[in-house]
Amino acid sequence: MKAALTTLGCKVNHYETEAMRELFAQDGWELVDFSDTADVYVVNTCTVTQTSDTKSRQMIARAHRSNPDALVVAVGCYAQTAPETVAALEGVGLVVGTDGRKEIVSRVKEALLAKSGEAYVSPIQEMRTFEPLSAVRDSRTRATLKIQDGCVNFCSYCIIPYARGPLRSRPLDEISGEVALLAAEGYREIVLTGIHLASYGRDFTEKSATLLDAIARASEPDGIKRIRLGSLEPLFVTGATAKALSENPKICRQFHLSLQSGSDTVLKRMNRRYTAEEYLQAVGLLRQYMPDCAVTTDVIAGFPGETEQEHRETLAFCERAAFARMHVFPFSLRKGTKAETLGGQLPRAVKEARAKELLSLGKRLTAQSLRAQIGSVVEVLAESDGAGYSGNYIRVRTDAPEGDIVRIRLEGFDGEMAFGARLD
Ligand code: SF4
Repeated sequence: MKAALTTLGCKVNHYETEAMRELFAQDGWELVDFSDTADVYVVNTCTVTQTSDTKSRQMIARAHRSNPDALVVAVGCYAQTAPETVAALEGVGLVVGTDGRKEIVSRVKEALLAKSGEAYVSPIQEMRTFEPLSAVRDSRTRATLKIQDGCVNFCSYCIIPYARGPLRSRPLDEISGEVALLAAEGYREIVLTGIHLASYGRDFTEKSATLLDAIARASEPDGIKRIRLGSLEPLFVTGATAKALSENPKICRQFHLSLQSGSDTVLKRMNRRYTAEEYLQAVGLLRQYMPDCAVTTDVIAGFPGETEQEHRETLAFCERAAFARMHVFPFSLRKGTKAETLGGQLPRAVKEARAKELLSLGKRLTAQSLRAQIGSVVEVLAESDGAGYSGNYIRVRTDAPEGDIVRIRLEGFDGEMAFGARLD
């Protein structure tokens, strides 16, 4: 039997698709390209914007067109939030939400057996426990391990709390087990990821644990040389956490703190739980304890009601924070979120013009931050294509064998690719 999988949306979705792919492979399925003819198509949907819903529906339709006899399976966030709508789409034979993907293969087999023309909507789970999908091997040196799911922050523009449900964390012993396995397979770098990583452990009732405990477990095997962290909430960074992170030499000096806006009034309307000043303090603490660290961020341009003055505040804030990289998104209204009820929706042209301005500032700041690295010595984990990443996420050319960690003094850049002299 042939299965084809595709993903829309965020890194976590991509992670989960890879994990499902692995489950099909373990069960002896032949995995083919999504554009090929398959017996089963799995579309891991996204609902973060209206466009994501549309794209999810388009992928489902595409799968059905490729083979009208195939079973089309819709999983993920859009399937979770609108199961009936998704089940009614032509070709859909099985709907699974954001839980229960660990059993995807047996559900597909059940649905194939029961195939009667009507979509089988698998009971959308209550999402009470962490779904232990195995780590995703990104390359032969780096693997991503999801250790947390769910979010209860309810930022006013975000559908994720509705799509992903409450906080669930992967137990510490499971993290240890997965990481030991990856170390034995020769992996050197682990990326710890989650929907709201900083909330790790808040759902544990019997034993308390925090993200720092999870990091400590992931750092234990000798073979694991690096731990990279997914997006963090600014308020996670206190003097104590910044100090603890700096004391772990395996932690990559790259931290992604989502900003979204540099204006307090916009942050408030977004229901973010920090002020611009608090955010800046977090960045300051990271740099105080780890002066070589790179801080990256996300920014939304043109949130409802955003005035020109508030936009200017964000530009000035980003300049002060001196981000190493900025991901910029023009605001996109998501049905069912609080932002839908806010007045002052801005015309698309305004949102795009503001996004463009932020993007060009981001490019300038990236170039500035790379230039500042010339002369510094970085440790690069070599990959198979003649380059690798430093801990602070600079792509550096190296001819070292894949998996080796080499010290390189940076001498310059070709675009965003650094080059330099190897020291050992
Ligand atoms: S913290 Fe806010 S933006 Fe992030 S997933 Fe939760 S609700 Fe969405």
